[in-house]
Amino acid sequence: MPERLGPPRETPLFDRVALIGIGLIGSSIARAVRHLNLARTIVAVDRDENVVARVRELGFADDATSDAAAGVTGADLVILCVPVGACGAVAAVIAKSLKPGAILSDVGSVKGSVIAQVQPHLPEDVSFVPAHPVAGTEHSGPDAGFATLFFNRWCILTPPENTPDGAVERVREFWSAMGSNVEVMTAQHHDLVLAITSHVPHLIAYNIVGTAADLETVTQSEVIKFSAGGFRDFTRIAASDPTMWRDVFLHNKEAVLEMLGRLNEDIALLARAIRWGEGDKLFDLFTRTRAIRRGIISVGQETPEPDFGRRRDGQ
Ligand code: NAP
Repeated sequence: MPERLGPPRETPLFDRVALIGIGLIGSSIARAVRHLNLARTIVAVDRDENVVARVRELGFADDATSDAAAGVTGADLVILCVPVGACGAVAAVIAKSLKPGAILSDVGSVKGSVIAQVQPHLPEDVSFVPAHPVAGTEHSGPDAGFATLFFNRWCILTPPENTPDGAVERVREFWSAMGSNVEVMTAQHHDLVLAITSHVPHLIAYNIVGTAADLETVTQSEVIKFSAGGFRDFTRIAASDPTMWRDVFLHNKEAVLEMLGRLNEDIALLARAIRWGEGDKLFDLFTRTRAIRRGIISVGQETPEPDFGRRRDGQ
């Protein structure tokens, strides 16, 4: 059991928590909730019967079902853990079965679109607290999750104006209990910040790996053989779930395009500096960026180990 999470609570925070979508994030929440005793009952919902059967084998939920409406019945916290583009359809299916006074939340990597999709289906007596745990890996599915995924990572809450403060506080307490640092901001600001810190970097990784795969003058085997020259680190990000990331770009279109516009301008300036031999410009930028990495390490969001702590034997 993960030591860093601390002991289970004597009194659970929620009576019944229903998680819809048991992939990396849904199964990590279930494992953390179970380990920390954050709910008396955990219900896992997944549309795929094979996943439902796997959840029963893994044993991190008290109940597992493919029927979303039945799964949320009686739950006091329901969390949508499905791709951003699926949130509206799932909300429509569960809306009538939500318990009066329940809290509905999600974990989507884009917030404005999820709010727009979910709010029209929301019953008046249900509070909506959208959330985004800024934590993940490139793996998917119920076997990929682990209870410490959210430990010492940020979780951003973006409650719409009409959400009661009490519901926001309960969701804050839930994520804090799982070891996250919680921050509240507007959905619009979240989408802009995450466009540059997460979405555009993923697009660049998908692009560079795709470009390398399509090159005619460098063979595929050379790309793989010499990948430690920087390319390898992009391939980890570019292995992230295609459905999830397709939805992120389709649903955070404006902010991503805005940041891409800035990026294109800056790349043009870099190309110019290289063409004209302006070494001081390159040196100044590389010095500033090195300081940013040191800042990330100093706040504990990355390992200071050389080569990301990879073992010398390449494992
Ligand atoms: P995942 O491992 O691929 O799991 C996705 C889950 O959603 C699966 O249970 C899948 O069901 C279900 N699903 C997919 N399409 C659906 C649909 N149309 N209707 C109903 N269920 C559907 O993905 P994940 O990494 O857990 O991501 C889930 C959410 O977390 C996404 O919104 C993502 O933006 C957010 N998030 C991800 C990360 C990350 O790094 N991975 C980090 C923070 C937030 P099946 O069993 O049928 O496949």
